[in-house]
Amino acid sequence: MTGTERAVFHKALDTWGAEAQFLCLLEEMAELQDALCKHKRGRRSAEDIAEEIADVEIMLDQMKLHFHIEEEVKAQRVRKVARVEERLENWVKQEA
Ligand SMILES: [Mg+2]
Repeated sequence: MTGTERAVFHKALDTWGAEAQFLCLLEEMAELQDALCKHKRGRRSAEDIAEEIADVEIMLDQMKLHFHIEEEVKAQRVRKVARVEERLENWVKQEA
């Protein structure tokens, strides 16, 4: 996240509190789930999904700041992407 985003998100946490922001994250995740489900039935666009992903990302960034886990999330992400890559390589070998 950018420095400006970090400042805004800290202000949001200070102003509304972590508990309110945590509930907001749950709401935004539900909205994303709803948009994805409705897209499968032709009732939401890719743009609708983009909007909901952005909402969830914003709230996830606030959770990273609240729990002081920004670097831990980055490290976990690197590990997990490597795991996906390894699974893909194994999948391709099995298919050959
Ligand atoms: Mg939303």
